[in-house]
Order: sequence, then structure tokens, then C-alpha cells
Amino acid sequence: MNLKLKDERMRLLIILILMIVSFLLFYYFKVILKTSILVAHFFYFPSILACLWWKRKGLIIPGLLAAIIIIFHFVLENEFFNIETINNFLRAISLLSAGIVVSFLSEHILKKEFEFNEIMEDLRRSNEDLQQFAYVASHDLQEPLRAIVSFSQLLEDKYQEKIDKDGKDFIQFITDGARKMNTLIKDLLTYSRITTHAQPLKLINLEKILEDALFNLHESIRETGAVITHEKMPILKVDKTQFIQLFQNLLSNAIKFRRDEPPRIHIGVKKINDEWLFSVKDNGIGIESKFFGKLFNIFYRLHTKEEYSGTGIGLPICKKIVQRYSGKIWVKSDIGKGSTFFFTIFPKKIKD
Ligand code: ADP
Repeated sequence: MNLKLKDERMRLLIILILMIVSFLLFYYFKVILKTSILVAHFFYFPSILACLWWKRKGLIIPGLLAAIIIIFHFVLENEFFNIETINNFLRAISLLSAGIVVSFLSEHILKKEFEFNEIMEDLRRSNEDLQQFAYVASHDLQEPLRAIVSFSQLLEDKYQEKIDKDGKDFIQFITDGARKMNTLIKDLLTYSRITTHAQPLKLINLEKILEDALFNLHESIRETGAVITHEKMPILKVDKTQFIQLFQNLLSNAIKFRRDEPPRIHIGVKKINDEWLFSVKDNGIGIESKFFGKLFNIFYRLHTKEEYSGTGIGLPICKKIVQRYSGKIWVKSDIGKGSTFFFTIFPKKIKD
């Protein structure tokens, strides 16, 4: 059976039961006990529910129940125009007014909810378009870039004798520029792939993930003499490739933004209620607090490429990965002393 129809029938049944119960209570108090203090109030429940569910159409119910009060009054009372008549009229009117207010409010809320849903849908669509655009653009741009690099190298090789020093320098600038652009495009592609190429989540021991991330960084760890320690990692349901990337980005930053001494990095983890809190603490150059929020924006960097290599996509990638687990990422840092990057993940609230 159509789910909506079933829903409607259920509502109708509830209203009917409530109306019967209200009517019986009304009868009991008014006719049996001959009191009328509470009588109209029993009718508020079915009236309010009907106006909540059917908006303006639901006004039929308070209208009907108000009519019952009035008719009952004229049938039972011999004497009209007494204080009880006025009371019953006032009760009927207040019942109808409550119905009108509820139907108006629920209509208003429904309209706002509808507008909100439309905005969310627009946002989702434009987000998808943007992701698709970033993916296609970065993917398709790689080809012409490869052509620039290989043809300028070919030019240099084939016409080595005929090109003077300036010409060779110019070719070098072209290849350097193209290579930088290639790195940028690759990073952008990685960024857009977090959503377009997400893998299903699997239960994995994060010790293994960390091992892989450290293996990928072994060259820079060896060169800088970095000492990396970590607490016992849990077994969690994650996207392996993305989690390696997450740790790798944070660790490579901790190594890259070091001071003159060898980097000392500690990875912490603890469970707080339903969430897991991870931290990557370093003894590097640190970050001024005014930049804390901006670091996670795409292409945002605090240093020139000459000072430290990079494209400014590493932390936005981390943010996007963490968001898949309904988590957050943030930083605490003291300039000249070091930084700690924190991120949380909620295994129960994974958006997959
Ligand atoms: P990239 O490393 O390519 O510059 P990221 O997005 O990874 O890009 O980082 C953005 C900026 O945040 C970096 O340029 C750097 O200024 C700052 N940053 C990130 N990690 C650290 C860190 N561990 N210590 C100091 N600064 C950092």
C-alpha cells in the first residue's frame, strides 16, 4: 500500500479516536457530573493535531467540535442567555482560534522548511557541479601540461647547439613553471577525488595505516632525523587510502615546518564517548593564532614557495577527509614552539 495513504489513514484514525475520547469526557463532565469547567479543553487535542497535520483543512475538526459545544449547550440548557451560554460560546471561539493559530503556524513552518530544503538542494547541486568541474579541469589540464614539458625538453635536446644561454634559461623557466602547475593540478585532482573516488569503508587497524604513511615519508624522516612516536592506534572502519593521506599530510607538514633541530612528533589518540580524538603534535616553527581558521581554506599558505615548498591543498584535503566521518579538524599552536593538529571522527555518523 502507498506509504503516504497509510500515513493519512493512521492520522485519521488517531483524530477519530481522540475525538471520541474527547466527546465521551465532555459528555461525562457536562451531562453526568453536570460540571462544565473543563469541557471545551478536551477538544483541543484533536483540533491541534488536525491543524498540525492538515493545516487549513484541519480547521474542519475544531469547527465541528465547536459546533458540538454549541449544539450540546442548546439541547441541554433550558435557559439561554445565561452566563453558561456566554461561557460555551467563548469556549467554542477559543477552540477555533487555537485551531487557526496552529494551522497558520504549521503552514508557515512548512513553507520555511520547503524553502530551506530547496536551498540545500541547490547547494548540493552546485557543490556537485563544482566538484565535477574541479575533477574534469584538473584531469584534462594534465595532458597539455605534459606536452609543454616534453616539447620544451625536446627543443632543448635537439637544438642545444643553436640555442644561446638566454634561450636555455627561458626553456628552463617554461619547464619549471609547467612542473609547478602539474603539482598544483595533481593536488587539486587529489582534493576533488576525495568525494568522487571515495572507497568503501573497511575495518582496519590504524597501526597499519600509520606504518604506510611513515613508509611513504621515510626519505624525509631519514634526511631530517625526525623522531616520531605514537600511542596505540585503534581498529576503525575507514577508507584506507584516504586515512594514509590524512596522516601523511599532517606528518609531512610537521616535518616540513620544522625549526633548526630535528622534528619530534607525537601522534595521540583517545576515545571520548562516541568520538575518536587524534592529535599530531610537533616541535616546529608554530603558527600565529590569527591564521588558525584560514589554514584549512584551499590554496591558503603562510609562506612563499621559496621558503617552503607546497601548494596549500594539504590541510583542505585533511578537512575534507575528516568531514566524511562527521569529524572536525583544528589546530593549536605557539609560535616558535610547535603546533598540534587535532581531528575527530564519529564512526557512528559516517556520511556514506
Ligand atoms: P602546504 O603544506 O602545501 O603549504 P597545507 O594546506 O598543508 O599546504 O598547509 C597550509 C599552511 O599551513 C602551510 O603553508 C603552513 O604555513 C601552515 N602549516 C601547516 N602545518 C603546519 C605545521 N605543522 N607547522 C607550522 N605551520 C604549518
